[in-house]
Amino acid sequence: MLLAPVEYARPSSVDEAVRLLGAHDGARPLAGGQTLTNVMKARAAAPDVLVDLNDLDELRAISRVDGDVELGAMVTLSALLRSAEVGEARPMLAEVASHVADVQVRNRGTVGGNICSNDPTNHLPPVVAALGATMTIRGAEGERTVGAEEFFLGVYMTAVAPGELLTKISIPAGHGVRDGFASVPIGKDGTCIVNAAATVREGQARIALGCVAAVPVLLTCAAEEAAVREAVQGAALDPPSDVHASADYRRHLAEIVAVRAVEDAD
Ligand SMILES: Cc1cc2nc3c(=O)[nH]c(=O)nc-3n(C[C@H](O)[C@H](O)[C@H](O)COP(=O)(O)OP(=O)(O)OC[C@H]3O[C@@H](n4cnc5c(N)ncnc54)[C@H](O)[C@@H]3O)c2cc1C
Repeated sequence: MLLAPVEYARPSSVDEAVRLLGAHDGARPLAGGQTLTNVMKARAAAPDVLVDLNDLDELRAISRVDGDVELGAMVTLSALLRSAEVGEARPMLAEVASHVADVQVRNRGTVGGNICSNDPTNHLPPVVAALGATMTIRGAEGERTVGAEEFFLGVYMTAVAPGELLTKISIPAGHGVRDGFASVPIGKDGTCIVNAAATVREGQARIALGCVAAVPVLLTCAAEEAAVREAVQGAALDPPSDVHASADYRRHLAEIVAVRAVEDAD
């Protein structure tokens, strides 16, 4: 289906992008367009103005700041998996990015778009939640930072309000921490049925489960199989049933992928 008519703006600075987003009630940022153009074609979203972020090179930087990894919101999944900084500091991020969809989607799709769309089956929301990332958001009132626990609000909903822009994702330095990821996808690199990211420090695991709720489900427990299983069972998960898995099967898989993610971190 063709796109409905829509106004289009291509700002050359973050300030201009924020001004445009604030000036039009129905304005939406356009990043890689891998989700947004599809939902617009399906008439599930109808922004009045698309504010295209693709000229904003300042949002494409990957840097190390005091050991932390800072990712501009427009870093593509392909850039993430090729980055020396990411490979050195938190290689799990690159490993996960390499399993998202296919090369075309990874070349266009961005880290910011992936977490701002907060599709519960996406790979990156549980990853940034487990890593304890901090998101920087710019709006007309200035800049604020939001931790991963407060960032994801619901299906397709995040702390980025209308008129605001996610500019940066800061991943803490992983000194003494090991990271792991596990999933059961539909096909080799397809959409996840259930996934889990984990970080392990001094025998303690922080696990974020994906695809089982509207937002990543965070758990902390000892990094041992029995403790991980007990933590998942105690989370009283109420996942959706769909053509790919019943709620019971998703609950079962959640235990399995949580254990595997913690083992992957060892
Ligand atoms: C065929 C296909 C298969 C896919 N499979 C997977 C998969 O298995 N796993 C997975 O994780 N992902 C998957 N994706 C999603 C993909 O990885 C992208 O991350 C995703 O489409 C969003 O990124 P984008 O840059 O294209 O964002 P867009 O589509 O441009 O935007 C998505 C949403 O985020 C908002 N947005 C974007 N950037 C910002 C910003 N900086 N600030 C505020 N709001 C912003 C937009 O307004 C829009 O609402 C798939 C996509 C396709 C087309």
